[in-house]
Amino acid sequence: MKPPELDYAAPTSLGEALALLGASEDAKLLAGGQSLIPLLSFRLAAPALLVDLARIPGLDVVERSNGYVRVGAMVRQRTAEESELLRATVPLLAPALRHVAHPQIRSRGTVGGSIAHADPAAELPALVVALDGRVRASSERGERWIDASDLYAGFLTTTLEPDEIVTLIELPVAPPATGAACVEVARRAGDYALAGALVQVTCGDRRVLEDVRVALLGVGARPHRVTSVEERLRGEVAEPELLAAASAHAADGLEPQTDAQATAQYRRHLARVLVRRGLELALERAA
Ligand code: FAD
Repeated sequence: MKPPELDYAAPTSLGEALALLGASEDAKLLAGGQSLIPLLSFRLAAPALLVDLARIPGLDVVERSNGYVRVGAMVRQRTAEESELLRATVPLLAPALRHVAHPQIRSRGTVGGSIAHADPAAELPALVVALDGRVRASSERGERWIDASDLYAGFLTTTLEPDEIVTLIELPVAPPATGAACVEVARRAGDYALAGALVQVTCGDRRVLEDVRVALLGVGARPHRVTSVEERLRGEVAEPELLAAASAHAADGLEPQTDAQATAQYRRHLARVLVRRGLELALERAA
């Protein structure tokens, strides 16, 4: 099918984009188009106006500022995956991005587009939740920062207002001796995962776990932070038995969906197995 008829605007400044968005009752932002264009083609979305963010300067920054890195919303996923600065500061990002679709899709898809699209099976929403990231949202009313823990309201739904544009994503710089892993099960390479785990660990002397971050994707309506596993492991020595014991509780309280791809029971099983594998791999990489 073809997209419905709609108006298209390609503003060349953020102010212009915000004015267009503020003035229209029914506008949608276009970033990389890798989720939105299929939705339009299937007529699952039919906005009156598309506001293309591609020509707005300044939305493609990648910069370090004190203990944080700031990634512009229009940074392409492939650019983020290949950025030396991001590899050195956010070790979870490249492993997570390698699971996002295929390189061709990542070379169009943007970091901000994925975070704003809020697919519960997507890697970047789970990553910002795991790392306690935050996003800067701009509108004609001003700017505000939204913590990732407050961003996801439900399936494909965020707490962004209709007239807001995500302009920047802020992530904490990982301390030394940090390792990270993204492990998933998908039916085919490049597909959205049935379930996945994003894990980041920071080790101190004698393998003491100074920090542990675990988030799951594909197991509910939004990314799921596994705080019970994090709390069980933080401050402990990383012994294999302990990792296995903590991971055994990774699905506690989870109520994943049953769909054509997998049952809820299978997704709960994957959650436990993937968290353990993610912890083991992240630890190896932290060494
Ligand atoms: P768009 O498609 O342009 O926009 C998506 C939505 O976000 C729209 O509603 C848009 O209005 C809104 N939006 C975009 N930018 C902003 C902004 N700055 N502020 C506020 N709202 C904004 N993703 C995964 O994570 N994992 C996968 O395994 C995966 N597999 C895929 C497989 C295929 C075949 C395809 C086509 C896509 C897949 N994707 C996957 C999705 C891909 O990562 C998209 O790039 C991403 O979800 C959306 O990014 P985008 O820049 O293309 O956004």
